[in-house]
Amino acid sequence: MRTDDFDFELPREFIAQHPATPRDSSRLLEVTAEGLNDRVCRDLPSLLSPGDVMVFNDTRVLPTRLTGRRGEATIEVTLHKSIGRRRWRAFARPAKRLKPGDWITFAPEFSAKVAEKRDEGEVVLIFASAPTAFRDALDQHGAMPLPPYIRRDEGPDPRDREDYQTVYAAEDGAVAAPTAGLHFTNELLNRLGDAGIARHRVTLHVGAGTFLPVKTELAEQHPIHTEAGRITAETAEAIERARRAGGRVVAVGTTSLRLLESAADDRGRLRPFEGETGLFILPGYRFKVVDLLITNFHLPRSTLFMLVSAFSGIERMRSAYEHAKAAGYRFYSFGDACLLHRGEPDEAVRRPPRAETAFTSPAQEAAPTAAPSPGGGRFGLEVLAQDGLARRGRVTTAHGSFETPAFMPVGTVGTVKGLQPEQVRATGAEIVLGNTYHLMLRPGADRVARLGGLHRFINWPGPILTDSGGFQVMSLAELRKITDEGVTFQSHIDGSSHELTPERAVEIQDQLDADITMVLDECTPFPASAEEAARSMRRSLAWAERCRAAFRERSGYALFGIVQGSTFEDLRHESAEGLQAIGFDGYAVGGLAVGEGQQTMLGVLETTVPWLPGGKPRYLMGVGRPADIVEAVRRGIDMFDCVLPTRSGRTGQGFTRRGEINMKNARHQDDPRPIDPECPCPACRHYSRAYIHHLFRAGEMLGPILLTTHNLSYYQSIMEGLRQAIEREQLDSFVARFHQELAEGDLPEL
Ligand SMILES: [Zn+2]
Repeated sequence: MRTDDFDFELPREFIAQHPATPRDSSRLLEVTAEGLNDRVCRDLPSLLSPGDVMVFNDTRVLPTRLTGRRGEATIEVTLHKSIGRRRWRAFARPAKRLKPGDWITFAPEFSAKVAEKRDEGEVVLIFASAPTAFRDALDQHGAMPLPPYIRRDEGPDPRDREDYQTVYAAEDGAVAAPTAGLHFTNELLNRLGDAGIARHRVTLHVGAGTFLPVKTELAEQHPIHTEAGRITAETAEAIERARRAGGRVVAVGTTSLRLLESAADDRGRLRPFEGETGLFILPGYRFKVVDLLITNFHLPRSTLFMLVSAFSGIERMRSAYEHAKAAGYRFYSFGDACLLHRGEPDEAVRRPPRAETAFTSPAQEAAPTAAPSPGGGRFGLEVLAQDGLARRGRVTTAHGSFETPAFMPVGTVGTVKGLQPEQVRATGAEIVLGNTYHLMLRPGADRVARLGGLHRFINWPGPILTDSGGFQVMSLAELRKITDEGVTFQSHIDGSSHELTPERAVEIQDQLDADITMVLDECTPFPASAEEAARSMRRSLAWAERCRAAFRERSGYALFGIVQGSTFEDLRHESAEGLQAIGFDGYAVGGLAVGEGQQTMLGVLETTVPWLPGGKPRYLMGVGRPADIVEAVRRGIDMFDCVLPTRSGRTGQGFTRRGEINMKNARHQDDPRPIDPECPCPACRHYSRAYIHHLFRAGEMLGPILLTTHNLSYYQSIMEGLRQAIEREQLDSFVARFHQELAEGDLPEL
């Protein structure tokens, strides 16, 4: 194979100079046969399955970079391989003047003699100290042997000692970190354990050869480096047992992979191993043990890029790296990670990946792991990036995390109408909303609780937010009576009488097992006088306090307060302050999108958001059209819900980047083009406007299903665009392009 086949361009700015903090917030590009998924290392518990076994390399990096003196000359030495009790192979700089017999002094009582001179700056050193004293001296005087592409122009950074070491490092001996392991925190390791994923340790001392570029024209001619490693009998047996039980082997790092593959016998069974491995893995290699590989992004023309190409396919890796560059992933040792699924060796590495969200893909339907799954943690928002007031974040709940800014499809009565949960998930949605009012009347919150909670009942394993029921009570129910105590009303279904108090609203949402519970509030009508708005806001505030008292604290579950106050700045301020005095896990802005118009709504956000705390999610309830969402994100909102994409999808109204279109309109009846030629959703990939028009005219249910699928996919694509734009601090140009496309109007008629 030609080495040139493994070349690619990587501008210097892609090379990470420091790791992500915390470690597990680094990004994770999942590379599968079906396509690419942008994840985060912290998501790993939900991306793997119970019974899988992860194999970690517990080698510990020694601080082997030393600065010493030979007479007046300063010599920098990097030890790279221990070849005896006191002997090390090392690279010296400058090496030219060194000759065998010279002494280099690194510190008083810490010196070495040059025993041998080799090619290309390499020397063999014999240290004068005993091995234990040598280790102490190394710890005291050595610096981490960071790779050359990590620049420390100001001298070594003290943080590197910790940053360039895995949290589970145990066995001294590496001269470079097993960098895939740098993404793991103890907390993440514990969560993997809680998710039923086994963890085992092997040892492979990473050598300096791992960085050597392949210089030969043919890859096969490259003299591969050897590294020393060990797999104990106990570990080999435990991994084999897990495999027999159907578990997949997940190698953390190419070093773990290389060692595991070296230790397999001819029949592919893992055996204990102790010694050196010089296994060179090139495309065409048949993997015997490893099913999944977690690894960083590697250098062009390196043996490691050859290895990942052998594992997942050259074309697939090329596309993955192109995507990573376009999406701003960070490369190399301190960079982001990949989760590679093993490709078929006979696929001849020629099937380009399709980044698709199709629910029609059989692989996706067969893979429940495509949906978020339990394995969440403490509730909270992590702000990952900011651009102006706009925030790019991640909210963790008891049922997994979701990326913000987020749009939540509305699953009114426990279903996002017309779509299966897997299809909702495939549009990009990570959290859905359920309506308390509807669910309490039918099928009843107690029944949902008896049937295992809403997640199980509706087959949505990811996060769920429920509203308090107040809005629907006040807009749908008849004969309602509102007092300071609560609301009494008659069901719009059968006329039965019900009472909703703050305590009852919280209890119902608890029975539903909502990850995010909303306080009961009074929806102030619009327009309202300042007096009416004040009275209503203060009643909501009193109810919010009762909700807080009634809420049962559980890890991963949250209670959100709702800011009211109509269009009055002082009332919004009073509400925001009052809610914070009570203390909530997130803050919603309510009482908008009730006919006040976009300018007024944005004005309210501009005066309200600054009063909300920075570390908590902000949720704009019931909004809205794509342009409202984009502008609200710009003003610091993180979460949205709205019935528009689903409700409009059922009535023939489509949302596209070029505005809204009515699919019932006769202009579509002969149009063979998709709703949006650039949209990757299944409705746009497989169906024409003419067909969808026909379905609506004929009253067929597939019409609403396809249009809902498209509308939700479009909304989610806006959210993804916003998230990426914030990360790159390019929100202004994203918003300008968004408005420009919208202004262009629909595709010209054929
Ligand atoms: Zn579409």
